[in-house]
Amino acid sequence: MKAQPIASHFIDGEYVEDTDGTVIESLYPATGEVIARLHAATPAIVERAIAAAKRAQPAWAAMSPTARGRILKRAADIMRERNRELSELETLDTGKPIQETIVADPTSGADSFEFFGGIAAAGLNGSYIPLGQDFAYTKRVPLGVCVGIGAWNYPQQIACWKGAPALICGNAMVFKPSENTPLGALKIAEILIEAGLPKGLYNVIQGDRTTGPLLVNHPDVAKVSLTGSVPTGRKVAAAAAGSLKHVTMELGGKSPLIVFDDADIDSAIGGAMLGNFYSTGQVCSNGTRVFVARGIKETFLSRLKARTENMVIGDPMDEATQIGPMVSFDQRQKVMSYIDKGKAEGATLVTGGGIPNHVTGEGYYVQPTVFADVTDEMTIAREEIFGPVMCVLDFDDEAEVIARANGTEFGLSGGVFTSDLTRAHRVADQLEAGTLWINTYNLCPVEIPFGGSKQSGFGRENSLAALEHYSELKTVYVGMGKVEAPY
Ligand code: NAD
Repeated sequence: MKAQPIASHFIDGEYVEDTDGTVIESLYPATGEVIARLHAATPAIVERAIAAAKRAQPAWAAMSPTARGRILKRAADIMRERNRELSELETLDTGKPIQETIVADPTSGADSFEFFGGIAAAGLNGSYIPLGQDFAYTKRVPLGVCVGIGAWNYPQQIACWKGAPALICGNAMVFKPSENTPLGALKIAEILIEAGLPKGLYNVIQGDRTTGPLLVNHPDVAKVSLTGSVPTGRKVAAAAAGSLKHVTMELGGKSPLIVFDDADIDSAIGGAMLGNFYSTGQVCSNGTRVFVARGIKETFLSRLKARTENMVIGDPMDEATQIGPMVSFDQRQKVMSYIDKGKAEGATLVTGGGIPNHVTGEGYYVQPTVFADVTDEMTIAREEIFGPVMCVLDFDDEAEVIARANGTEFGLSGGVFTSDLTRAHRVADQLEAGTLWINTYNLCPVEIPFGGSKQSGFGRENSLAALEHYSELKTVYVGMGKVEAPY
């Protein structure tokens, strides 16, 4: 299987190569096979991409929002027409099952282009402020050159979720995908050109943690939006602060999912499985601490175990497969070391906990794993694992579980399953997180704001809220009379 792109980078409307950059090997996680060889951006490539973005941005900002929106909507249509091809590429890039990528990856990127393309005409309006005979008005102006830096779990979605609001506000973007998943963003750049985006407005350059700082520290960059881990977020935010750049931080989590004894138990199990095993557990908002009311614990665990053991692990290109490999060998090692810690610290292994032996070859597979009797102090309950490892914790009452759920530095998401309407809202109100779900989990349509609180980050993606993070208000005060000066 090969997925070699025409070249490593996409700058100023065309593919660009610079073989002086460090080699990035793209491995298919299901087999370990090298499917593409690319090069990290050299400083010259970084300069070229930022210069192209800077050159292209003013004319784009001068177009009407409707005209900009028309191009994004065309890009959405092209993505939908090519959904199969893009989904297969996403599966090669990440190892995620085609069953998922075909419904959740390019399609959610297309949703983003469609949404922001569609709201452009009204969403970017300013306001009129009456001041007696004088008045003022505000207008929403773009920031300039925006940098997007992506994680490896949703490469195409992340490339679109950052690109769409940036572009609709009149900015240009330089996007750097994760070194683990370099392929998808190049296709997004290609499609945008095909949709009519003027060249230079959406550039993709490859690179790793040494390339990112070249972008973040660049004086011509106005904004950085990162999707990544908390430690990377701290570094990027600190570097961006050096020149007071705007920042959006979409970081990690250790989110609570609380199941009360009056919940629809099968829905709660389904929500917990989706919120721990989808994308082989590599989802930032996953509800990895599942607090289950003690009274329903045994029923919950026995049904959960049966359903988990029924999951289909295997070839991600097979439409029946529900669990694919981890993105990389290193990620699998990290997940396995957490599983070892869970066992060593006394959690009860309900199911999984190993490498599936019926999957042959060099793929980075891990069994979907459930631990019960997990306590708040255990490492697996405190640290983000980013793999298919669910921790089930017991609780007795509402006040106790809210305090324990909030006892973490993270604040990305959370969920509650209960049939008590007032309790559902009371609990959601008290959980410290950017996004909460009641009687469902992990649904993130483009219409709703998404982002973290506490150490999980700041800023919001999607929805009208994203516009505020890719533009700023300019206020114009208009004096209508003579200036009365006291001197
Ligand atoms: P990571 O932090 O290792 O890397 C993220 C990106 O940052 C990569 O492109 C990497 O090359 C780049 N990078 C690393 N160091 C940098 C630096 N000093 N300066 C600039 N760029 C740098 O994260 P990952 O392992 O790719 O992704 C997994 C993490 O992402 C998890 O913690 C997960 O929770 C988080 N995530 C968050 C969201 C969200 O929306 N909140 C979504 C997906 C993933």
